Amino acid sequence: MFEALTEKLDAIFKKLKGRGILKEEDVDAALKEIRIALLEADVNFKVVKSFIERVRQKAIGKEILESLSPAQQVIKIVYDELCELLGGTTAKINLSPNPPTIFMMVGLHGSGKTTTSAKLARIFKKQGRRPMLVAADLQRPAAIDQLVTLGKQIDIPVFHSYEIKDPRQVCREALKKALIDRMDPVIVDTAGRMHVDEELMTELKDIKEILNPHEILFVADAMTGQDAVNIAKSFNEKIGITGVILTKMDGDARGGAALSIKEVTGKPIKLIGTGEKLDALEEFYPDRMANRILG
Ligand code: GDP
Repeated sequence: MFEALTEKLDAIFKKLKGRGILKEEDVDAALKEIRIALLEADVNFKVVKSFIERVRQKAIGKEILESLSPAQQVIKIVYDELCELLGGTTAKINLSPNPPTIFMMVGLHGSGKTTTSAKLARIFKKQGRRPMLVAADLQRPAAIDQLVTLGKQIDIPVFHSYEIKDPRQVCREALKKALIDRMDPVIVDTAGRMHVDEELMTELKDIKEILNPHEILFVADAMTGQDAVNIAKSFNEKIGITGVILTKMDGDARGGAALSIKEVTGKPIKLIGTGEKLDALEEFYPDRMANRILG
């Protein structure tokens, strides 16, 4: 991931360092190239525009241009602004002081929602908690089986029913069961579709009302770039999300989703999926990711 962007930024910065003293034109020429590199990495064009503007504002200052290592300072400004695009500081998962904490997992079909629900449950189990998974994706019968299978692999109970046809009812029953069995947290895998539609949004809104979740985590496939960003925006506007989990960060995505989603939705990336295995879910560190981009 980010390979092409890293390579291009490296070439741009080498050229800048080779100049020694920098003039405003040199910075502008470099910014023009950075702009193209970001667009080619599939970063949202509005995000690119404001990013370049912010870097320019900071980099054109006299003290920077007349300093001993102006190129180095410009690179530091780019680094700082990349950190900001990625969310600034690490955004923590919100746990309720009054258990159970309820997680509602949302996202389109194929984004990695079911796998990520199991991965998240596994992390809580490792911490000594008593997580429960809930199969509220009744769109495909296979989705229930998939979650049940994953639950068995990590020895975590999965509340599910092949008889109840309404996911709202599944959620109500699951909450009752979680309270009786003192399960915490409760992680609810909701239905996905190939694309956003009104019926799905209505279902999710109803489920949100029933669950009153502490976190609504939008699961997005990093490989789908700006589509993931647009869908996140739409989910946020329609049902409100509290954070993003970006999956398939182990793939060769250009990086546009990671670099755009916070600025476009206002909601931070909280976790990243880094593989198909159930232990491949990590906290997201904007500074580390910015370092990786700068190579
Ligand atoms: P859902 O339809 O959103 O519930 O998606 P699934 O959980 O079924 O995941 C779809 C596919 O993506 C499965 O083959 C998963 O193993 C795979 N997957 C999920 N997360 C990751 C990840 O972080 N990296 C990789 N490489 N594959 C993932």
